[in-house]
Amino acid sequence: MLKLENVHTHYGKIEALKGVSLEVNKGEIVSLIGANGAGKSTLLMTVCGDPRASSGKIFFEGKDITQSNTAEIMRSGVAIVPEGRRVFSGLTVLENLHMGGFFTNKHDFDSTLEHVFQLFPRLRERQNQRSGTMSGGEQQMLAIGRALMTKPRMIFLDEPSLGLAPIIINQIFEIIEQLRDEGMTVFLVEQNANQALRLADRGYVLENGEVVLQDTGDNLLVNEDVRKAYLGG
Ligand code: ATP
Repeated sequence: MLKLENVHTHYGKIEALKGVSLEVNKGEIVSLIGANGAGKSTLLMTVCGDPRASSGKIFFEGKDITQSNTAEIMRSGVAIVPEGRRVFSGLTVLENLHMGGFFTNKHDFDSTLEHVFQLFPRLRERQNQRSGTMSGGEQQMLAIGRALMTKPRMIFLDEPSLGLAPIIINQIFEIIEQLRDEGMTVFLVEQNANQALRLADRGYVLENGEVVLQDTGDNLLVNEDVRKAYLGG
């Protein structure tokens, strides 16, 4: 569904991605793990068109999107939940969800909103609360809900567990699994390697802008190098 072929990305003279190739198949959860500064966010943002790949190819559902801009890529069926959630803090929960569903017709909007409220009952309860006053976990739920309102076929999540309590992380990861079971394709970028790999059908390890390992989530969890570097031995 998503394919990267030998993708390089530069910030000026800094080469943040050094020839990354990877694939996400329809209906999979694929996790990308790596240390601070490995290039995880850069990879995600490159797929979203900002920054642009300096060379290599990116395909979504067989279409070459390497030169597409972010709006075109989002319209083609991709949604991103950025690092740090970035909800519109001055707007209510419902208004944030309206922003996500801005381009959908009324019928799709209503059914998608109901689906989001079923996934996250807390958002239904708090629909009139200003989102800036919600807890970190609630804001993460809202950020995912807002992305789902665009009715994507594939969703990118950048560090959804960041700064959240373990019990909330578990809830968020259960929802991600549920989305996959409903047919969504998920690309998950995480520093929380343990949980990201438990959840993943397959995983990639990124180091210094390069993929150094790829395997099933289960195999990576027991891989000696991964255990030493990312799972505390
Ligand atoms: P983290 O988990 O800390 O967010 P990451 O794996 O997502 O790390 P990136 O944020 O993609 O890593 O950063 C990869 C490299 O690119 C780093 O060396 C970083 O300093 C550099 N970089 C990222 N964004 C920019 C930018 N806008 N301008 C210049 N260099 C950047």
